[in-house]
Amino acid sequence: MNPAKLLLIGFDGLDYNLIRKYPSDMPNFSRLLTEGVLTPLSSTHPPITPGAWASICSGVNPGRTGLLGFFLRQDYSFVPVTLQRTPARALWDYCTEQGLTCGVVNVPWPGPVPEAVCFGITGRFTALQTSPPGLEQEILDMGYRPEVHHPSEFSSIHGFLRFAFEQAEACTRVTRHLIEQHGPEVCMVVYNLPDMALHAMLNEKQIQKVYQEIDRNLGELLPLGERHVVVSDHGINIIEGPVFYFGEWLVREGYLTLAEGQATRSGREQLGFALRKILQRAGLSSIKKWMPQFLRNLLPAGIQYPAFLPIDYSQSKAFLGPGEYGDIFLNLQGRESQGVVPPGESESTLGEMADRLAEISRREQHRPIRLSPSRDIYHGDLLEQLPDAVIRDPGSWHLEPGLHENGPVGPPDLKHEHNQEGVFLFAGRGLETPASLEQAALVDVLPTSLALGGLKIPEGLDGRCLLEACDGAAPAYYGTELVGADHDLAASFSQEEEEEVMKRLEKLGYL
Ligand SMILES: [Zn+2]
Repeated sequence: MNPAKLLLIGFDGLDYNLIRKYPSDMPNFSRLLTEGVLTPLSSTHPPITPGAWASICSGVNPGRTGLLGFFLRQDYSFVPVTLQRTPARALWDYCTEQGLTCGVVNVPWPGPVPEAVCFGITGRFTALQTSPPGLEQEILDMGYRPEVHHPSEFSSIHGFLRFAFEQAEACTRVTRHLIEQHGPEVCMVVYNLPDMALHAMLNEKQIQKVYQEIDRNLGELLPLGERHVVVSDHGINIIEGPVFYFGEWLVREGYLTLAEGQATRSGREQLGFALRKILQRAGLSSIKKWMPQFLRNLLPAGIQYPAFLPIDYSQSKAFLGPGEYGDIFLNLQGRESQGVVPPGESESTLGEMADRLAEISRREQHRPIRLSPSRDIYHGDLLEQLPDAVIRDPGSWHLEPGLHENGPVGPPDLKHEHNQEGVFLFAGRGLETPASLEQAALVDVLPTSLALGGLKIPEGLDGRCLLEACDGAAPAYYGTELVGADHDLAASFSQEEEEEVMKRLEKLGYL
């Protein structure tokens, strides 16, 4: 078997500081580093999986992929981004366009399995789909575990870790098999392990074991590629800090008004009512079947999620997405069906919110909660799909979208949180690497990887190629389309597959 020219190995949530903390537990990573460069990789604001991987694979920012968090807004409803498809083209498109075959395994790219691959397995947020279609049974027979589980489904943390390790091992086994069988010139595989495991609130020793396991899987894949990229979408580590209930803050500051009469109903009833409405509008009505269990899992004591609550939009200037990172949407006149903020006041409204948030940090003598308008950070045709403002570098705050009677600031808590620092390592013999490297951005991964694989880089990407030269030659560029053909999104998934997506997001704790 010929090794792939380029092997991209992604680890969701691999943390820059943790890999440096456990060098003796990561011999394969350390060995790879001797022929490459390692740099922290600055994630999206906020650092969330779907948007971050979309920028890694496409080389363009969320304003051009249209993807940031787990949900896309349609008026006042939210649908999972994984049921959508970004028009941005990606690694596999640019490889096949230049005559190289490309295979993908478990890449968290939205929508069905990409068309331009010689083999493909969808990522964990969508239902399992493969290319070629018959591949599904073959990989399941090899022990591939596409399902996701929440740690609470296991009777012990050891049981959960056993599942997580088996899942990673099966991913390695299947990737090896597919590379041996199809001989792709470029292959990209993503492991869920670091993100999934660390969200289970592991202790120091368990985290160390997870990082050993990551390295073991990495070691098994390395011989299958000539040149390597190791990449993660964000970091994740333990943070001790106060909890900030964003929904509570919006209500208390008068930006968000809950519908009248809701106070007389229990939180669970309100949630069920609102969520059913949202899902029905989104065409996911048959999800009701598993709603009761889902709702029980969803409601931590005392917290209610405003994105799922009945809201009086005619009296609300702003509202939140269902994600945990405080995505703010303005209720704009002319854009939303019950918009109240005149378009000319959007900037001043966001500015006022940012000032009030900064004031809280001063009062609490804690690092600032910085709210930035999305257009200050991102640019592109699909900027309108993103929240109007996002929290930047939440630092040591734990952001909760919910309402809390004792909020908006709750007492300090220990929690695993996504952080800004992912990992980017690129390696290969004959590489001329920069003497020093500033922190890289997600969008730099694609151009750098293409050059590493001996491919030309599309002109007009947002990222830079971090390689000075490869095999003595400077990176080459070419003009091509950065946007793909329109797809009929509605036809991408069946009703059952849509339900599957929602279940997965629930188990991952994102709903
Ligand atoms: Zn992630």
